[in-house]
Amino acid sequence: VTILGIETSCDETSAAVLVDGVDLRSHIISSQIKTHQKYGGVVPEIASREHSLHIQPVVEQTLAEAGVGFTDLTAIAVTYGPGLVGSLLVGVSGAKAMAYAAGIPLLGINHLEGHIYANFLEHHDIKFPLAALLVSGGHTHLILFEDHGKYRVLGYTRDDAAGEALDKVARALGLGYPGGPQIQNTSRGGNEQAFKFPRAMLEPGSLDFSFSGMKSAVLNTLNSARMKGETLNVPDLAASFQQAVVDVLVHKALTALEQTGVKTLLLAGGVAANRLLRETLDYELSQRKVRLVYPSPILCTDNGAMIATAGYYHFLEGDFAPWTLNAVPGLNLKSI
Ligand code: ATP
Ligand code: MG
Ligand code: FE
Repeated sequence: VTILGIETSCDETSAAVLVDGVDLRSHIISSQIKTHQKYGGVVPEIASREHSLHIQPVVEQTLAEAGVGFTDLTAIAVTYGPGLVGSLLVGVSGAKAMAYAAGIPLLGINHLEGHIYANFLEHHDIKFPLAALLVSGGHTHLILFEDHGKYRVLGYTRDDAAGEALDKVARALGLGYPGGPQIQNTSRGGNEQAFKFPRAMLEPGSLDFSFSGMKSAVLNTLNSARMKGETLNVPDLAASFQQAVVDVLVHKALTALEQTGVKTLLLAGGVAANRLLRETLDYELSQRKVRLVYPSPILCTDNGAMIATAGYYHFLEGDFAPWTLNAVPGLNLKSI
C-alpha cells in the first residue's frame, strides 16, 4: 500500500510517500515561515497563494525522491480541515485532481488526527486503549482512544490553544514568530521561578484548559512595568511562562490518566516538540509506569508524513472520500 500524503492546512506545503504505514520513502516540507515572519504571523491570503505556487513542485519532487510515479500509488490522502480555507482548498483540489486522473481513491484526513498519527509512523508497538494530548497552534485536546479511529474528546481549551498563547506571549516579548521555539530557546537563560504566573486549572477534575488568562497575566506584567519605566528580564519572563504552561499541560494529562486508567500517553502537535514538556512528562510518567510516546520534532509541526500515516489507517478501514470532498475550515474531532 503506497500512499501519497498532502498537507496544506496552514503555512506548510508538504507531501510524503509512505509504504505500508511504516516505510517513509520521501518527505518534503516547504515552509512559508520566512514569508510570514515579517508580518508577525500567518497571512491567510499570502498562504494560499504560496500553496498554489508550491504544491505541484513539492508533489513532483516527493514522488521523484521516492522513485514512484502516480501509477504506483494506491491512494492519495489529503488534509481537508481544520485550517485556513484558502490553504486547505489548494491541497484538496490538487489531491482530487491527481487521484481522479490517476484512477486511485482519495482519503480525506482530519489534520488533528494527522498530528496524533505522527506517533504511529515512528512507533509500531503502540497499544490501545490510550490517551492523547494534542497541543498545537490552534488546538489543545485531551482524547481517549479505544482503537484506531475510535476516540472520545475528554477535554479541550475554552479559549486560547497552548501554542497560540506561546505565540502571543513571544510576540509581546519581541521574540518573533513562531513563538513556541523562541520561548523555549530564550528560556534557557532564564529563571522559571522569577515570575509567579497563574496556572489555570478550572474546576477540580476538569480536563478542559484555559490559557487566555495566563497569557494576559504576562501582558499585564509587561504593561505595568512599562508604565513605571522598568525593564523586565525577558529570559525570566519566557522561562516563567513556559513553566506555567507546561505545569498545566502535565497536571491535566496526569488527571486524564488517573481518570481513565490507561497506560499509554501520546503527545502530538507543534507544542509536543517542547523540550520541557517532553522531559517533565517523561519523568512523571515513568514514576507511574505509564508509557509516553512522542514524535520526532519535525513530525510534531505540520507535515505530509503524518497525513499519509493517518491515510494508511483510513485505507485499511475502507474509509474513502467522495469526489465532492470539500475543505472544512472548522472541522473538529468526531467522537464515537
Ligand atoms: P493546528 O494543528 O491546531 O491547526 P497549527 O497547525 O498551526 O495548528 P502546529 O503546526 O501543530 O499548529 O504547531 C505550531 C505551534 O507549535 C505554534 O504555536 C508553535 O509556536 C508551537 N511550537 C513549535 N515548536 C515548539 C516548541 N519547541 N516549544 C513550544 N511550542 C512549539
Ligand atoms: Mg506552521
Ligand atoms: Fe497543525
